Formats: sequence, structure tokens, C-alpha cells
Amino acid sequence: MARYPDIPKYKLKQASVAPELSGGGVGPYPFVIVGSGPIGLAIALDLARKGHHVTLLAAFDFIARGSKSICVAKQSLDFFDRLGIGQRLLEKGVIWNVGKLFWQGNPDPVYQFDMLPVRNQKNPGFIKIQQYYVEEYLLEALEAMDNVDIRWGNGVTGIEVNSDSATLSVASDAGDYQLESRFVLACDGSNSHIREAMGLSFEGRVFEDNFLIADIKFTGPNAERRPSERWFWFDPPFCPGGTALLHKQPDSVWRLDFQLGWNIDREAVIKPENVEPLVRGMLGANVEFAQEWYSVYTFQCRRMDRFVHGPVIFAGDSAHLVSPFGARGANGGLSDAENIAWKLDMVLRQTAPLSLLETYDVERAMGADENILNSSRSTDFMTPKNEQSRAFRNAVLELSSEHEFVRPFINSGRLSMPTPYHGSPLSTADVDDWKGGPQPGHPCVDAPVHDTDKHAWLLRQLGDQFKLLHFGPNAPETELPVIQVGDDEVAVERYDARYGATYLIRPDQVVAARWKRASHAAISEAYQRAIGNRQ
Ligand SMILES: Cc1cc2nc3c(=O)[nH]c(=O)nc-3n(C[C@H](O)[C@H](O)[C@H](O)COP(=O)(O)OP(=O)(O)OC[C@H]3O[C@@H](n4cnc5c(N)ncnc54)[C@H](O)[C@@H]3O)c2cc1C
Repeated sequence: MARYPDIPKYKLKQASVAPELSGGGVGPYPFVIVGSGPIGLAIALDLARKGHHVTLLAAFDFIARGSKSICVAKQSLDFFDRLGIGQRLLEKGVIWNVGKLFWQGNPDPVYQFDMLPVRNQKNPGFIKIQQYYVEEYLLEALEAMDNVDIRWGNGVTGIEVNSDSATLSVASDAGDYQLESRFVLACDGSNSHIREAMGLSFEGRVFEDNFLIADIKFTGPNAERRPSERWFWFDPPFCPGGTALLHKQPDSVWRLDFQLGWNIDREAVIKPENVEPLVRGMLGANVEFAQEWYSVYTFQCRRMDRFVHGPVIFAGDSAHLVSPFGARGANGGLSDAENIAWKLDMVLRQTAPLSLLETYDVERAMGADENILNSSRSTDFMTPKNEQSRAFRNAVLELSSEHEFVRPFINSGRLSMPTPYHGSPLSTADVDDWKGGPQPGHPCVDAPVHDTDKHAWLLRQLGDQFKLLHFGPNAPETELPVIQVGDDEVAVERYDARYGATYLIRPDQVVAARWKRASHAAISEAYQRAIGNRQ
């Protein structure tokens, strides 16, 4: 394969010949997705499962290998469950709930944290799995459907945007062509060609630091017996003045990450003879391993001003970028995906107004800002910019093993959580007195429930359509499907529903409204607001 020689390949795909070039029926299309990364594929699968015909343009004709995301957060697993691939990921991935922080040469952690403080939910806090498996599972689910057209080796080279459609120029081995689409979902990654062609800004901060990733495979005995915890070091003896990170992945592959500073020879540091001492420094002189992939990355925190530009909607890395610390890149992009997919579905079916799409911009801007804020703070803690900041950081680390109150200041990457949509135009504010439970704009929390005497999970039952979640015997009158929960203690507790309660849940399992005693009129009004009809 001559194209993209620098990109390692996991699975090759057959380059596609577009119907535009083979005389088949052509657009205008209702929507076209650009990009076959996790975000483009997730949107594609969500919309395909909702019954839409999906056209996806992929510049590559392969799934890339290399070292990209590995940490999949609970909220993404919940989304993957709704897409039908959650269980497969869970079975392949390494479950991860515990993180440990080390300082200098001390073999005991200065601090340990739990990724899933609320137990008794279907999914763990995180799993770790190579990004190419995520893409592969999404793709296999898409390939099993007959309403999906994935065009491998069809890269977008230009775009012309009108008020209610866009025309894409596409290059492929079989020839160049144009296609017109009512909506374009630009999921074409951090160097988004579409963003550039439209002359849109991508403001933010570049961090002057280099990180070496050594993905290695343990080849010696007892490889699988190492704990699947995340270990993070500040200023360890094997990487003085820097930080280091260790993660377990499936197939006995481990990710080692070393902070190397700004002025380095990027080609020299990835030579096996230079990586090996770092690996042995971290894991012990006698460790037996083989190289999977070595690379150096730098990072930036940036975002577009707006994610919706008429018919063109940006999602994932094309819209916002963060550092890998905190695992907020793909997880944040997947929150974009679930947010835009149900809204576009309803707009295309004409069951919600076009203005609903604007609320994607409002809600996901909150997500991007939160992710960028956390990512920047972690980086500032990990790489103090002056002596004062370094003295503060070291004092925090020194005191943290003894004093609990300083531990919240330690920041090795605040790990990805769903962003609550405070003040979303789609939410109806509480009027009743609540002592707990997810507020409007917050994600639903999982709980074990009974389903005709079987053990089941609440989130699973809520599915991916608007639903009414009712606790107690007499569900209010409504046209919406109702999930009724009886005396399941944990669910009742988590939703503050001891004396009955009703929640209106969106397709992305965000609470739209809730009542202690709901009326038909209140539910109808909240539903209209939640689909963008009352802003
Ligand atoms: C070292 C590292 C570790 C990371 N770890 C994590 C982690 O643990 N957890 C996490 O959540 N995130 C992590 N991330 C971030 C994560 O990898 C990205 O956020 C994620 O890949 C974004 O997905 P995407 O689909 O938006 O973009 P991409 O994955 O970049 O996909 C973009 C796709 O668009 C295609 N494309 C580009 N241009 C065109 C065009 N003109 N026409 C057609 N197709 C085009 C590309 O071929 C590609 O397939 C990490 C990143 C790095 C670098």
C-alpha cells in the first residue's frame, strides 16, 4: 500500500468506487459523515440503527494501528451498550477502577483513587482497550447493516457551503466527484480539512512538551498477573523531573508513557536502544518484553468557536482538542456523537424543529470547555511553569500520604466524566423539593432493577428513545413509552423516589425534567421543551 506509508495499519479495507462514478443513483443526500475515526463511526452506527441511510467518506482504506486512545469511560460504555457493542468491548477490554500515584523513588503510593465510587452499576469506571478495537467493533456492526455505505479511500478535498446544504469535493483512486448533502458531519479529526477549507478558527494553547509512548508486549511469565491499575509517577528516578504513566491493555500489551521535555531529538528517543532503559527503569531490569509501537506526541488544547455552521456540524477532535491526560478526547467526542445523533434523527424525521441542532452547539460547548479546563489544569500541575508552582506541587505530594485534605490538589489528569448540561434550553427546571437524584441536564445513573423477576439494569431499560421513568404503581397518563420501577431499593434511593417520582429521559439518557407528582400537561410541556419547541 503506497498511501499513508507512515501510518501503521491494523486492518486493510477495499477502496470503494462511489456510485457517482459508477452510474448509480446519487444525492442530494440527507447527511454525509466525513471521517472513520471513533466519532464518525459512532454517529454512523447510531443513525443507521435509527433507520437512516448512512453515507460515510473515509480518506483511509484501513483501520489504523499506532498508539491512540485506550481508556474508555463508563459514559462511553453506556453509549456503546445502546449501540449494541458494549458487551463485546467489556469482554475484550481490561476493567479498570483503581488509580495509584507515586512520587519520586517511594514504592508506596502517595495516593490511591477509585474510578467508580458508586458501585452496583452495569459498567465499570473505565476499561482499557486499543482504539483500533473500538473502531473495528463499530465497523463490524455497521457492515452488518444494509443501509450503510462506507466509502474507503474517498477523501474530502473541498467544500462549498450554502444556507441549507453543502457540496463536497471528493478524491478517490477511481476518480474525483462531487456530492451534495443537506447536512455534513465533519468528524475528520484534529487537522480537519473541512474546518480549514471553511476558514474557521481553532483557538487554544500549545503545550511545549514531548511525551514518549512505548506500547510493549510482555513476553515473560506472569505477564497477566500484574494489576490492571493506572500507575502514575511524579519525578520518578527512571524519568527525573518528568512524569510517567503505566496502563494495562488487552493482549498483554502495556502502555508506558514518559514525559521528556521540549528540547529533544524526536527521532532518536524512539530508537529501541533509547526506549529500553526507560522500560527497564520503570518495570525492573529483568522484564521480558517486545516492542509494539513507539511514538512521540505533543498536545494542544483548542476548540472551535462554534460547532454548528449552517449545514456543517463538527464533532470530536475536529471541534475540540485536549491532552490525553484525563482520557477526555475520544470520550468527549463520543458524548458529542450521542448528543448530535438523536437530534439529527428527529430533525430528519421532522419530529423536531431545525433549531434543535443549535442546542448541540450549546450543550457540547459546555463539554468542550470542561474538558479543556481539566486538561489544562492537569498539565499545569504535572509540568510546573515556575519555581513557586513546583514548590507547591512538591508540598502537595509530600503531604498527601499523611493528610487527606491535600489529596484533591493532586492532579495527574482528572478522568473523564459526563458533563452536566447546566441551564440547557432543553431542560425544565425543578419545581419540587429534591434531596438527591440526577437533576435536569444531568446523566441518568444506573441501578439494578427487576424485569419480570429477572435481574436487569436501569440504563439498559431506558434505551435510546425519549422515555418516562416512573417510580411507583400509578404511572401518569402520557403518549411516551414508560419504564416503571417498583420497589428496587437502589434505584429508588439513587433517584430520590421513596414517595414516587417521574423523570423525563432524553434519548442520550440525560434527564430533561422530573416531578414528585407529574401531570399530563407538565410532561407534554417538558417534552416540547426537550425537543426544542419552547426556548
Ligand atoms: C497518545 C494518545 C492517547 C490518547 N488516549 C486517549 C484515551 O485514553 N482516551 C480518550 O478518550 N482519548 C484519547 N486520545 C484522544 C483520541 O485518540 C481522539 O480524541 C480520537 O481519536 C478522536 O476521534 P475522531 O474520530 O474525532 O478523530 P480521528 O480519530 O482523528 O479520526 C478522524 C478520521 O477522519 C479521517 N479523515 C481525515 N481527513 C479526512 C478527509 N479529508 N476526508 C475523509 N476522511 C478524513 C481520518 O482518516 C480519520 O479516520 C488519545 C490521543 C493520543 C494521541
